[in-house]
Amino acid sequence: MELQWNWEYLTEVMEKLIETPSPVSYYEEINPLMEKLAAELGYEVTYDRKHTVYIKVPGKNREKTVCVGAHLDTLGLMVKRIDEDGMIRVRNLGGINFNNIEGETVTVHTRSGKTYTGLVACQSHSVHVYDDAKTLERNENTMMVILDEDVHSKEEVKALGIENGDILSLEPHFTVTPSGFIKSRFIDNKACAACSLALLKVMKEQNLTPVCDTWFVFPHYEEIGHGGAYVPDEVSEYLALDIAVIGPDHNGREDRVSICVKDNFSPYDRELTDRLVRKAEALQLNYAADVFYRYGTDGSAAVRAGHNLKAGAFGMGTFASHGIERTHMDGVKNTAKLLAAYVLED
Ligand SMILES: [Zn+2]
Repeated sequence: MELQWNWEYLTEVMEKLIETPSPVSYYEEINPLMEKLAAELGYEVTYDRKHTVYIKVPGKNREKTVCVGAHLDTLGLMVKRIDEDGMIRVRNLGGINFNNIEGETVTVHTRSGKTYTGLVACQSHSVHVYDDAKTLERNENTMMVILDEDVHSKEEVKALGIENGDILSLEPHFTVTPSGFIKSRFIDNKACAACSLALLKVMKEQNLTPVCDTWFVFPHYEEIGHGGAYVPDEVSEYLALDIAVIGPDHNGREDRVSICVKDNFSPYDRELTDRLVRKAEALQLNYAADVFYRYGTDGSAAVRAGHNLKAGAFGMGTFASHGIERTHMDGVKNTAKLLAAYVLED
């Protein structure tokens, strides 16, 4: 059956997800959004104790259950200290490249639900003042956040309700160019979450049933390595949808879907990977098979945690991952189409 994709819906949902902050562990804004998006499509959401979102769709074969995971968490920061002069010092949540966030606007999310914006700066923040403004290494010990508030001391910052352990989210800068490129932070992994939602929409509208029970899951701890560490026992396959990286060792491109054969931890299951490659071939998708180095997914997190399951992974080629990233709508579409083939075809 010809699938009636709504690519505008996919793009809109991607933007909504990207514009909703969800640094590692901060689920309280994005989970209600997921409930709303699921309800609009006619699905219900359930959770496990790690606040992972589940949309469970019954299949033709009720004896087999597979998970399609697309993590919702993103890189972010956490307040580690407030300096006497009111500057905020931070710890990273996930693999932040501090060079990449200098000059970025951040939002502090306090425990009481207040938000304040600020600017990420190096402590040697101006070439007019510091000899080492260009050369000082940017890391968590040299970078800080100056709040966009009239505060000049630790006491004044604390009086705003800001405390150690508060979450900071980064401005994403979501843009779609006329040529089809998507430029934004957090394409990792909200482009993949949007592919899952776009497929759920197609399935509902065309009344399509998955091959087997299929749980679309959206974890919150991938960026620090344990998003897939808990998987319910009945799950026999974990397909991780996650961005694919691009570089000299890789055949992936922004307009392709990359099937990950091996990551930094383990090769993915050969039978499942073969199946994905055959489906990509049969559909004549623009795809690549690649081996990733400084990279892992919730699929390998599930295997590492000792679950008795097959893992597989694929996603759209993404340039400058963990920075302001870029992919192309063609890569997103190829990813969604391969996902549909996995879920709906034997
Ligand atoms: Zn990711």
